[in-house]
Amino acid sequence: MNLTRLSEQLLGRLPPRLAETAHRRVARLPKVGRLLDAEYDRMLDQAPAPQLTSEQTVYSRIPAEPLDHAAIIAALTGMAMEEHDAWSTGQTSGAVYHGGAEHLALLNEAYGVHSQSNPLHVDVWPSAVKLEAEVVAMTARMLGADGATDEIVGTVTSGGSESIILAMKSYRDRTGIRRPEMVIPDSAHVAFDKAAQYLGIKQVRVPLGFDYRADVDAMARAVGRRTIVVAGSAPGFPHGVIDPIADLSEMARERGVGFHTDACLGGFVLPWAERLGYAVEPFDFRLPGVTSLSVDTHKYGYAAKGTSVVLYRGRELRRHQYFVATDWPGGLYYSPTMAGSRPGALTASAWASLLAMGESGYTEATRAILEVGTELRGGIAGIPGLRVLGEPLWIIAFTSDDVDIYEVMARMTERGWSLNGLHHPPAVHIAVTLRHTQPGVADRFLADLRDAVAQARSAGSGASTGAAPVYGMAATFPARGAVGELLRRYVDKLYEVRRR
Ligand SMILES: *Cc1c(COP(=O)(O)O)cnc(C)c1O
Repeated sequence: MNLTRLSEQLLGRLPPRLAETAHRRVARLPKVGRLLDAEYDRMLDQAPAPQLTSEQTVYSRIPAEPLDHAAIIAALTGMAMEEHDAWSTGQTSGAVYHGGAEHLALLNEAYGVHSQSNPLHVDVWPSAVKLEAEVVAMTARMLGADGATDEIVGTVTSGGSESIILAMKSYRDRTGIRRPEMVIPDSAHVAFDKAAQYLGIKQVRVPLGFDYRADVDAMARAVGRRTIVVAGSAPGFPHGVIDPIADLSEMARERGVGFHTDACLGGFVLPWAERLGYAVEPFDFRLPGVTSLSVDTHKYGYAAKGTSVVLYRGRELRRHQYFVATDWPGGLYYSPTMAGSRPGALTASAWASLLAMGESGYTEATRAILEVGTELRGGIAGIPGLRVLGEPLWIIAFTSDDVDIYEVMARMTERGWSLNGLHHPPAVHIAVTLRHTQPGVADRFLADLRDAVAQARSAGSGASTGAAPVYGMAATFPARGAVGELLRRYVDKLYEVRRR
């Protein structure tokens, strides 16, 4: 019996809330529980966790005797080599944003030089403190801090998610409002969801406008007494379109509420796009209503993974981010971010990236990326059956009105492309990076996409393999609890030490 289909048919007739409750009640019955277990296993078998193809020794405990350094590096190199082509040839959406050999060598060397440093120990590593302060200052200056009148301050964090979580914490603790709420567009990154869950903030997600941008009037109506912050993205992850930040931030300012721009993706692209003459609406601290902003050095800042910057208008707001403890037996303690010990080496490599790129380097990289973005957007729109969502620059989301877009994604996966599946509505996106600016990549993408669409069209529905059926289920299955359960089981699988 296909339980998914059956429950889909039964539960699909109920309103979503009721379906959820019904599913939870029914899933608790032992017999149904066992059937569900089998069904989850079947679904997971269809989308197995990826495995290395090369033979690797499995370590499930610390080896009794130390291994030779050369053997360790050989094992790591073997795995890295197997994975290298997938990202270096430009077949992944996002993931590796620079990837040039010389640039990577610089990041690695910077890391190596500072691998022991920890900004928690300011007395031992004043260099780590200097590097963090300068990464923040350089990033702020790029994003509208004029260096004179207004004070834009911030901290280095471990990534965009931490930057967003910390900003939300700062608003929560500054306002002290009971049962606080954040008002965000539906396209806002899921890190806001994570912040809401971790911090006990209610999330008010507002439907998008027809152009996939935040709907300013609807957002304004969602702001209430308990609102601690309003947010928008420049651009948003799913559709790569930039919210009307000027109007949103002004709306928040008029109501005396803080506004966060999520520029995790665009912070290191849009300033240079503007310089190149692209029509970029303001999104940064030049807007008086923008009171905080997140921007990822580890995406288009071209640093190694593990750093981002969160910025604030004024020191007062940033103070609410800090953690201090005055009565711990371990001594007086403070830490600016979520981590205790912090990797000074990652900040050193981010600092190195900013210096090695320079304004002209970032401008040239942006020029190349936006040119490929324009080419792909036009090319995708020109393939019969495909439709680009909204007005994107370099993160291009597309869907289809007559073929199953997840089938198209599956056929692209077979051709070696790693794209991002989206839903509500069903779509796929590609985030263009410097990897895609190599000669021939854009043409290969468009040729493969044309073939993939033709193949999906001739296969019709029901021939799904790979991620397609999982996405199909996730998009339509009424009981979201079951979809969540499937994801949790998937994560469990990733942590199993696997013998081949
Ligand atoms: C990537 C991204 C984030 C989250 O950043 P991580 O570094 O993955 O934690 C947040 N917002 C947007 C728009 C992003 O693209």
